[in-house]
Amino acid sequence: MKNNAPKILIVEDEPSFIEALQIGLVREGFEVDIAVDGIKAIERFEQYKPDLVILDVMLPKLSGIDVCREIRSHSRVPIVMVTAKGEEIDTVVGLEIGADDYITKPYRLRELVARMRSLLRRSNWTEDSEAQKEGVRVEEGEISIDLDKHEVQIRNEYVEMPLKEFELLVLLLENADRVLTRDVLIDRIWGFDYVGDTKTLDVHIKRLRSKVEVDPKNPKLIHTVRGVGYRFLRQVK
Ligand code: CA
Repeated sequence: MKNNAPKILIVEDEPSFIEALQIGLVREGFEVDIAVDGIKAIERFEQYKPDLVILDVMLPKLSGIDVCREIRSHSRVPIVMVTAKGEEIDTVVGLEIGADDYITKPYRLRELVARMRSLLRRSNWTEDSEAQKEGVRVEEGEISIDLDKHEVQIRNEYVEMPLKEFELLVLLLENADRVLTRDVLIDRIWGFDYVGDTKTLDVHIKRLRSKVEVDPKNPKLIHTVRGVGYRFLRQVK
């Protein structure tokens, strides 16, 4: 049984990112170790035995792609690839060789942490933890979501929600008060290679509003940011 903080290996060569990540993740309750190039990443991985790896793609000595491939040859540890804008090709390769998720610089720490927690949940790190006993919940105003049981309560009533709507609501709530662009929403819910009709997003938002809003025709929670995307408005108590 693991009671200690999840161990995170940060593989990053830019000092400003290293510092911000280290401070931010420790504050979020993670234990952190750092490797500043691809060779050190593999060394630290073997010694530190992290629960999750944050892996920059562009690294000295050995690329993040090669590091990912090496780790995957013998471990299923969750890996989040970090790419810079314009490195989409590396992103695709990264997912093909077994990275679990990716995030593009610049990103918000809060978004990274949300993805990390989701991956750690999936990899059963929380199996025996306090969090699991209590159920991992996302709460905002009159909405309460149990992530493990996939249960949504709105104004104290259980509401049925198909998977994509559920994921969309969780994403909006986890980023309350932040504008999520259409691209980000489609990318996170339907996948970065989604080529379907972009109206799918609007249809799902409409369905969500019909369940979440007191008056769906006059939405107060899920706000449309014209030409950009959507934002879940945090309710001031
Ligand atoms: Ca880099």
